[in-house]
Amino acid sequence: MGPHMTEHNTSGNASSTSTFITRRRFTAWCAALAGAGCAQQPIARAGFSAADLAHAELLRSRGLADTQAYALVESLVSEVGARPAGSAADTRAVNWAMANLKRLGLAQVRAEPVNMQVWQRGAAQARLVAPYPHPLVAAALGNSIGTPPGGLEAEVAYYESLDALKADTSDRARGRIVFIDQKTERTRDGRGYGLAVAARATGAVEAARRGAVAVAIRSIGTDRDRFAHTGAMRYDLQVPKVPAFAVSVPDADLIARLQARGQPLKLQFALDARVVSATSANVVAEVPGTDLADEIVLLGAHLDSWDLGHGALDDGAGVGIVCAAARLLQDAGQRPRRTVRLVLFANEENGFDGANAYAERYEGAKHQLVGESDFGAGRPWRLRTRVRDEALPLVAEIARMLAPLSIDHAGNEASPSPDANVLMRRRGWPAVELTQDGTGYFDVHHTENDTLDKVDAKALPQNVAAWAVTAWLAAQSPVAFGPLPR
Ligand SMILES: [Zn+2]
Repeated sequence: MGPHMTEHNTSGNASSTSTFITRRRFTAWCAALAGAGCAQQPIARAGFSAADLAHAELLRSRGLADTQAYALVESLVSEVGARPAGSAADTRAVNWAMANLKRLGLAQVRAEPVNMQVWQRGAAQARLVAPYPHPLVAAALGNSIGTPPGGLEAEVAYYESLDALKADTSDRARGRIVFIDQKTERTRDGRGYGLAVAARATGAVEAARRGAVAVAIRSIGTDRDRFAHTGAMRYDLQVPKVPAFAVSVPDADLIARLQARGQPLKLQFALDARVVSATSANVVAEVPGTDLADEIVLLGAHLDSWDLGHGALDDGAGVGIVCAAARLLQDAGQRPRRTVRLVLFANEENGFDGANAYAERYEGAKHQLVGESDFGAGRPWRLRTRVRDEALPLVAEIARMLAPLSIDHAGNEASPSPDANVLMRRRGWPAVELTQDGTGYFDVHHTENDTLDKVDAKALPQNVAAWAVTAWLAAQSPVAFGPLPR
């Protein structure tokens, strides 16, 4: 809890006064019935009723015993496997989700079509040709154009970081393959990735602005393994498009050592890719609300994955976690005031088409809170939100309910997972972030090594408990969490 969050703020909040009094009356009523069992219930604070807090405790303890999340991710990655957006496997994933959400007993299970342009990877090969021939482990970056048939060969212009490239006003890069040796720092909260990822996203534009014929980057990853990390990059319509690929971290180290020796460096590579029209779907299911059923608490994950691995951590784990949390809410015997809506988004990895389609479709719908589990399978350790100030005392109560799960409350500057982030930014909907421990996440993120053995089954129940508690209390809140000030 932040020092600025004080409980008297709630009772001073005019917009919630009538509901708040109702809750206080309920508390007084409970106190009067102290001998009849209410005394064991948590004392109502900040506008949540004692009954709502007691139900949150029930969800928390049941969530900690959850086995459904792991069963779901195991099923998804075994029965469907990798599921790049718009592929036949993506269609199988949508069918998998529909069948499983119905089996779990959720309401309003539906697939909402999402039209998109999808990038398809073809073959890719890269090698060092000077100072000596040496094959490189490489992967094309998502959205990259292909090379001319027969590939491309050029001298390397080495830059130790994207910033170094951006600072270069010479024409050293002209006619060359720009190599960006951007390192990714290992951090618990993904900050290191956040600082490095622009090299992947915008490296091709910066290289092409300086006349380069292609860009190669050190994989955006924290491992020391010999596989490449893919991921989305983008072009600028004002700048020529050049092909873009990543090499494994050990191959990047080799390039850096040869560079340090002053050797003439030359790369040869060929990649093939195309863009086609496709239709996928956001898969949606609900735990229907009661008196505030028109208002939505959104629990998200993304159904698509990159093609290289099995998409177990990214984002099979998130799919398992939020589906299990929704099922827990459904089965725990009390309907929420607001509707809890589960959304498995289409094409998060390479275009946010699902999130954008959702933002269009539900533009006028009031959203109380949007959140997404998309940071692997680690334990959650931090709660951050973005809500209007009047809702902060309620968030402090949610944080108190999450504290026994070893989750710290860290303020109102949330950076939620990507699809939720799109919704927050486009629509001003309040958002929540339950930060997972991502210390090892970027070792396998977007690689062929993103497989089920990386999912720690023991870490999932804590996530299920945290999302169920958060969604429940957001759904019961007497105070609207939004809209956010714009
Ligand atoms: Zn993801």
